[in-house]
Amino acid sequence: MKSLWSGLALLGAGLCAPLLPSSQAQPLGLPLPPPIPAGLAAPYPGLLTLQVDATDVARHIYRVRETIPVAGPGPLTLSLPKWIPGEHAPSGPIGSLAGLVIRAGGQRLDWRRDTVEMTAFHVVVPPGAGEIELELAQTAPGSGAFSGAAVTPEMLVVKWGGVSLVPAGWAVSGIRIQASVRLPEGWRHASALDGGVTTAQAGGDVTRFAPTSYETLVDSPLVAGRHMRRFDLAPGAEVPVHLDVFADDEAHLAATDAQIEAHRRLVQQAARLFGSPHYDHYDFLLTLDDEIGGVGIEHHRSSENGTGPKYFTDWDASAPERELLPHEYTHSWNGKFRRPADLWTPDYTTPMRDSLLWVYEGQTEFWGRVLAARSGLLTRAQVQDGLALVAARHAHEPGRRWRSLQDTTNGEILDARGAPGGYRSWTRGLDYYGEGALIWLDADTLIRQQSGGRKSLDDFARAFFGIDPGSREPVTYTFDDVVAALNAVWPHDWAGFLRRRLDGHGPGAPLDGIARGGWRLVYTDQPSPMQKAQEALYKEADFDDSIGLTVGQQDRLRDVRWDGPAFAAGLPTGATLVAVNGVPYEADVLQQAIRDAAAPGAPAIALLVKADNRYRTVQVDYHGGLRYPHLERVPGTPDLLDAVLAPRP
Ligand SMILES: [Zn+2]
Repeated sequence: MKSLWSGLALLGAGLCAPLLPSSQAQPLGLPLPPPIPAGLAAPYPGLLTLQVDATDVARHIYRVRETIPVAGPGPLTLSLPKWIPGEHAPSGPIGSLAGLVIRAGGQRLDWRRDTVEMTAFHVVVPPGAGEIELELAQTAPGSGAFSGAAVTPEMLVVKWGGVSLVPAGWAVSGIRIQASVRLPEGWRHASALDGGVTTAQAGGDVTRFAPTSYETLVDSPLVAGRHMRRFDLAPGAEVPVHLDVFADDEAHLAATDAQIEAHRRLVQQAARLFGSPHYDHYDFLLTLDDEIGGVGIEHHRSSENGTGPKYFTDWDASAPERELLPHEYTHSWNGKFRRPADLWTPDYTTPMRDSLLWVYEGQTEFWGRVLAARSGLLTRAQVQDGLALVAARHAHEPGRRWRSLQDTTNGEILDARGAPGGYRSWTRGLDYYGEGALIWLDADTLIRQQSGGRKSLDDFARAFFGIDPGSREPVTYTFDDVVAALNAVWPHDWAGFLRRRLDGHGPGAPLDGIARGGWRLVYTDQPSPMQKAQEALYKEADFDDSIGLTVGQQDRLRDVRWDGPAFAAGLPTGATLVAVNGVPYEADVLQQAIRDAAAPGAPAIALLVKADNRYRTVQVDYHGGLRYPHLERVPGTPDLLDAVLAPRP
């Protein structure tokens, strides 16, 4: 800036002339500060302590005190986790950290934030100090990639990584830390942490946990609340599994025996699928609350699962949410224990890379649906309806023309730099979930067909995820490892099979698994019960497969299908739908208008919309009638899909 300004001053009004002599045409930039060192495998000397006061529920503030032992005087860099496991992105909530004061022996130390890594703080430890003390606050818990609230009047979630700084340059597995939390009086809590001892204190109960590694602490969020119930999902088993449910109202905790039995069968079916567990105990942390919202984050010995309040008490309506627990549970094997080599990092400042998320998330999405069916959390018909919705979403996706599925694995990192707007069919979003599941169905049915039913993807799951019984030490893998494990189950050109589906540009989605499974994707004028439940739950009306739009809350166009009829009429994502053929918009009014427009010689559908603070009417020239996706059995073919979804005896 300075050199440009002095150039202008020298040249006066002669702005057409070159601003600088050619030898100085480009300013010389300053070198970057040294990078934050990557974590060393050696153990960090001493035990850190972390005290989180989570009693200020009304103001949504966590107040934190932390001590960090130091080996001697000199420069020290502290960092807040930036790359968050399970979020696959640089989503650490650094923006909500405030009030940072660092002291040694009562003397205040000046800190300086790194000018490149905003999550790193430099400080100089004075001679004679054995430890430093930190004071800080997290002012908006819950911000980050999954930005549902973390604090409500009835419950809260403490994510330890968002409220603690640790010495940079040390592996998170080698840093020992003892955490404690103060909770509002009378609240109960659950987490995967060991050795919690609670003492009643004025101002709120304090629970102190056993020392553990920072890696395990960050991987073990704590949920607490006023209304809680705990269910044993593996009665009598050597390795306990619990379902810890927190609700905004005591009435929402009324789970029936049959519902809990289905969750128990999930644990049994996962054990039969994967073989040995990689946890010594496991806790499903389930929050039934609209504010915290539809969060799902995997951990090694627990998972954060957020659903609506009526997960148990309106079982039919909550069907679309019941793949969540099977999905997050699968991650204990696929994602936490077996982890892509480029995603594993020794610390949370080293960038994570997401190239294998089509295995980590895609195959988990597949097993999540399969285990939902095998456990009876969903009926087979419900899982098939869900599969039809996924297949339809990807079947005619124009974004495939420019963006490969492989490139979508960068989606979480791109989202952390600003979430994209609508036009999902063009941007493709996080397609490696749904389309990844279709690829694994494709692989499963191929193995089943070619082996005459003797082998299946179940054999891959056991061989790939069931190794090292009981071990929690992550085992990394590469693309070649996945291919080798598939070949060991059933020889095939798996590298070619996968790369064509990952790097190709269509046409169409990988629907061979549905066809080989003995089914086909069809459209009728009636939504499936699963689609109706999804529309009700997410407060949307889905016309994606007919006029190419989805209407969300406040009648806003949540999405417009790229190159679809509504798009061709000039409708933008985000516009408000005001009227249909002159009648105020309601979902059933638009449904009827689409039906009417299918009559011979019927006029186009007139939509009055408000966009960019202007009202305008557009004519949607669509006459194909209502269209909703379903799977239909192909007569005379073996029902391999049924075999995939059948419980293991
Ligand atoms: Zn996942």
